[in-house]
Amino acid sequence: MRKAKHKTLRLILGDQLNYRHSWFRDKDDSVVYLVMEMKQETGYVLHHAQKLIGFFAAMYNFVAYLRKNGHNVVHLLIDDKRNKQDLAANIQYFVAQEKADAFEYMYPDEYRLDKQLKALEKQLSIPVNAVDTEHFYTTREALGGFFGSKSPVMERFYRSMRQKHGILLSMDGTPEGGAWNFDKENRKPFKGKHQLPKPKLFSHDYSDIWKEVQQAGIESFGNPDAQRFSWPTTRKQSMEVVKYFMKHLLPSFGIYQDAMQTEHAFLYHARISFALNTKMIAPSEVVNMAVTEWKKQHADLASVEGFVRQILGWREFMRGIYWWKMPGYAGLNKLEHKTKLPEWCWTGNTKMNCLHRVVTQSLDTAYAHHIQRLMVVGNFLLLAGVHPDAVDQWYLGIYIDAIEWVEITNTRGMSQFADGGIVGTKPYVSSAAYINKMSDYCKGCHYKPSVKTGEGSCPFNSLYWHFFDRHRPAMDKNPRLGMVYKTWDKMSADKKEALLLQADAYLGKLNEL
Ligand code: FAD
Ligand code: SF4
Repeated sequence: MRKAKHKTLRLILGDQLNYRHSWFRDKDDSVVYLVMEMKQETGYVLHHAQKLIGFFAAMYNFVAYLRKNGHNVVHLLIDDKRNKQDLAANIQYFVAQEKADAFEYMYPDEYRLDKQLKALEKQLSIPVNAVDTEHFYTTREALGGFFGSKSPVMERFYRSMRQKHGILLSMDGTPEGGAWNFDKENRKPFKGKHQLPKPKLFSHDYSDIWKEVQQAGIESFGNPDAQRFSWPTTRKQSMEVVKYFMKHLLPSFGIYQDAMQTEHAFLYHARISFALNTKMIAPSEVVNMAVTEWKKQHADLASVEGFVRQILGWREFMRGIYWWKMPGYAGLNKLEHKTKLPEWCWTGNTKMNCLHRVVTQSLDTAYAHHIQRLMVVGNFLLLAGVHPDAVDQWYLGIYIDAIEWVEITNTRGMSQFADGGIVGTKPYVSSAAYINKMSDYCKGCHYKPSVKTGEGSCPFNSLYWHFFDRHRPAMDKNPRLGMVYKTWDKMSADKKEALLLQADAYLGKLNEL
């Protein structure tokens, strides 16, 4: 233990719970860590109750871990009289209170916090130092540097990451299995012919934290599930979830990655995004563990490569896009969509069974897997022309893993095409055929997936063509959409008119669908 002459105040944000950060390697009497619950964080968007409980619980556990290891920590609770509920005001207060002669923080992952801390830096009269979170493979600036003036392409970035980090490469530097991508072998529907392993769920009683949230008057929505909270909230629990995934789920991860099933919300997905995004576990840990499973021949290359691509590719790529394109990115609305978010997004009360199932599941668990987010909810909101601000707010609130850097790039970019094609090369939309193929939702639906117009017609079918027709000037030069416009152009005028009229009728009563 070093003797204290000076004192440094070090900030730890709620998504910086990196148990293995070099800050915590040695006990240091001259350092005080500051961990804060604040209304500025609970109120910048309406959060799902499980998201609030999850972050508060993970912060409690992290503070307990630091204290157990001899570190000095101020844990400012939401109802503490000293709490100004504002990041900068609290830091200024504790700098004075602790008589700190230096302030340090880890680079935040959100633009608004970065801006706030940079502004604070100018106001503090003591030295300020910012350090890396030691979590990601890449720095915040890496992607902009990698692409320069060229358009970003995830696949190019991903291949360079595989090469740089020597992941799934053979001795001569070529990709293992002779291909970079095994997507063709993945993405099958789940026919329910075999028994699925049970998901690894915890059952924490966090009634005390939920009471704290409620007593502080923090608004939220969704099922708090406070007495049997299922998400991991320590590093140890997070590693248990990862190990469970590697042993029981990874071998079938690739093949059923895009499948959706009413009875099985999680299928073979890992449920590790909350643990990753709070930094309780590191991306390199899970990638290395997955590669080991392949080396042990416990999981095939298609599954392992598919999983590695999500983390080493998509997750790092999205973060890079965020830091490259913010702050302008948050205001992009290239398709000029204006419609209000349908009311059933907050209740799940819609006759469209796919949306009913996915929204209800999200309200209940604070989770939906990628294809549920992209090809059910996102698909519909894009076809319906909902304003991307409203779509972003909803996604940022409802999912336990939603932090702006990874939420906005997925939502505004990949899902809503509001960035005009920075993240994806074409909009992710489909008619009912895709949902019917990949899920069992259509079986129990009020609407019929095969019917395009008239009584009982599935709204996805006519909205799909309405979307491409109304956005023709912006899209018909896109080479990836050539087939879509060819098919549209081949349809008779009567058929087109019927589809457009049907879509107009549905667009006029979104809340009643
Ligand atoms: P798995 O399917 O098991 O995948 C493993 C891991 O890969 C995930 O935990 C995640 O860390 C990573 N991953 C997979 N796809 C992506 C992706 N597109 N971008 C970044 N990482 C990815 N992910 C978030 O972490 N936070 C969000 O707020 C978020 N919002 C999304 C919004 C929309 C509209 C869409 C289409 C996707 C969003 N995603 C988001 C990506 C993805 O849906 C989730 O990471 C995933 O569903 C989390 O569940 P899992 O851990 O079981 O993932
Ligand atoms: Fe969804 Fe249409 Fe299928 Fe109903 S018929 S579940 S609305 S895709």
